[in-house]
Amino acid sequence: MKQLIELDGVGQKTILLLNKLGIYNIDDLISFYPRRYDVLKKTDMNKVLNKEKVVLDGIVEGLPTVVQLSAKLKKVIFRISDGRGIYNIAVYNQVYLLKELKYGMSVIVIGKYDKIRNTVMASEVRVGQLPKVAKIEPIYGATDGLNRKMIGKIIDIALKEEIELVDYIPDYVSSKYHFPDKLWSIRQMHHPFNGIYYKKAKQRLKYEEFFWYLLRVRYLKYWVSNNNIESAKKEFDNNMVNQFIDNLDFELTADQIKTIEDIKKDLSSTKQMNRLVQGDVGSGKTIVAFIASYMNFLAGYQTALMVPTEILAIQHYQNAIDLFKNTDMKIILLTSSLTKKKRTEVLRQIALGEVNFIIGTQSLIQKEVIYKNLGLIIADEQHRFGVNQRKLLKEKGVVPDVLAMSATPIPRTYALTIYGDMDVSSIKTKPKGRKEVSTFYKNEKEIFDILKMMKTEIDKGHQIYVIAPSIENDKVDELDNVIKLKEKMELAFGKICEIGCVHGNLDNDEKTRIMRKFEQGDIKILISTTVIEVGVNVPNASMIVIFQANLFGLSTLHQLRGRVGRGDIQSYCILLSKEPCDRLKIMETTNDGFEISEYDFKNRGEGDLFGVRQSGQAEFKLADLKNDFELLVRVKNDVDQFFDIYFSKENYRKFHEYLENNNNLD
Ligand code: ADP
Ligand code: MG
Repeated sequence: MKQLIELDGVGQKTILLLNKLGIYNIDDLISFYPRRYDVLKKTDMNKVLNKEKVVLDGIVEGLPTVVQLSAKLKKVIFRISDGRGIYNIAVYNQVYLLKELKYGMSVIVIGKYDKIRNTVMASEVRVGQLPKVAKIEPIYGATDGLNRKMIGKIIDIALKEEIELVDYIPDYVSSKYHFPDKLWSIRQMHHPFNGIYYKKAKQRLKYEEFFWYLLRVRYLKYWVSNNNIESAKKEFDNNMVNQFIDNLDFELTADQIKTIEDIKKDLSSTKQMNRLVQGDVGSGKTIVAFIASYMNFLAGYQTALMVPTEILAIQHYQNAIDLFKNTDMKIILLTSSLTKKKRTEVLRQIALGEVNFIIGTQSLIQKEVIYKNLGLIIADEQHRFGVNQRKLLKEKGVVPDVLAMSATPIPRTYALTIYGDMDVSSIKTKPKGRKEVSTFYKNEKEIFDILKMMKTEIDKGHQIYVIAPSIENDKVDELDNVIKLKEKMELAFGKICEIGCVHGNLDNDEKTRIMRKFEQGDIKILISTTVIEVGVNVPNASMIVIFQANLFGLSTLHQLRGRVGRGDIQSYCILLSKEPCDRLKIMETTNDGFEISEYDFKNRGEGDLFGVRQSGQAEFKLADLKNDFELLVRVKNDVDQFFDIYFSKENYRKFHEYLENNNNLD
């Protein structure tokens, strides 16, 4: 097959931009599916409902002006006429429109119509007129320097080429389901002919994603049980471990003890550990991981703890320093914000083995980090230690034991399906004396009661999270939500305390700065979308108010709820919804993450934006672990059958070579 560079109009510069989107070859390119589709057909403005999506064209009647909303946020406002009516158009941050739009120019506007203000909140404004016949337009994710139109063009060029695709669905399975051809299906995803073809194509591609994934999991399971991957056998003095546990100022729960036993067995065997520990937020996974690091230290090896964000790394570091102050274990923090000099020094200490427990972000496994003797990797808030991550380590010639920790508990049967090649320990029992978070599900109309409750907490000196949904594929709505909430909160509490706001449009430094201020208690109310704050620990936060809770999956809500109730103060979780939403009631009745996820899986419904889905992001482009659960189960059966019937010894060897050559061996 051709390389990206051989495509017309694709140069070195474009390649770098494509890489940023995770596109490295033609395969990646053509499976870079649209995030959504716009139907370019003029909306009948007489029939449109409030807040409904609209597409219209017209002539610029009022020239654009700009309103500065905050340091980094501007709103451009102008007016158009379509011959029947005049509409206000508002669009965030597209300041270039000030220059571009001229009086009398034709423009197309796509957005949401606010009937009361006669304003279209535009997600897109472009020069031109709508086509006479309705047209379906694929909308791609973009990156700086490569907009969605350019990406669409490059994809179209690639789709015209002769493409040889590997089809991972065996022929007999394809005929059983009457699946359409793969390339045809991919073309449909980019330019759907009609709804029926589109669905057929999508179903087929989803099936393949699951099939290929589960086949690898099935093979890995087979392979692991037939090949001992030797990792060093860690021997240590158990009395020291017990002594450490006895000195904790609490007693471990039954499940914590069981999990520690599991880990102990793994560490002291020569088989490489590949274990997932799942348990609710606050169930005490971290302490279990810390004890694992201590055992590994006693055996004479280094441990690396990898966490998703820098804030979390710092928190873990501080906890670890405190917890291990009476031991000889040396702990160090490695993050990207270290000065060059400090970093060099830290790297030196790691290489010489002067430090035993290294805490940081992804950077911990990068090339320049050389360990003296890495024995254990702990990946926090990760379900699976990825292919590339393993590869990086393998290139360094280390085979550490691997412990993944996830705070999104999923039912056991499900875990066995998607993590079939891993061992799973679940921590279900809760630490003693934990105060349960009180949860209330309310209609947004009752906001004044909620504001009163918030006031009470602030008066007590406590802090509050306010959550606005981060809306996938719709930055305009997301910002809109966050900004409106900020205005509301400023109105209610602006005089008595500082209010902070983090959202997807801020850069990382800014986010970190605001989060720090919240941690230190300077900011009392933190408004945010859900994305960034996984794992944040602010024990003084006693309340979380979640707007439009009906848009979240239960698992996500439960995760968010876990942000409070971390200290010994009574905490509250308020779920607000505009429409009645029965699903939310279960949150009032239970605090058990396993129970909630069980319910969630049984009642998969609309509106789940996050949840378990995150875990599959890298793996699946179209399929969704939860919403496509039935498909997943079906594919699992097909894979098992295929594996049992068609895989001979000879095939195993070939399959293994194939996976290895394609970097697919996890
Ligand atoms: P997780 O990592 O699962 O979210 P943590 O390990 O951070 O949970 O535990 C949350 C808090 O509970 C920490 O302050 C920890 O010290 C404490 N903790 C952990 N295990 C117990 C226990 N068995 N009894 C009482 N407190 C515990
Ligand atoms: Mg944790």
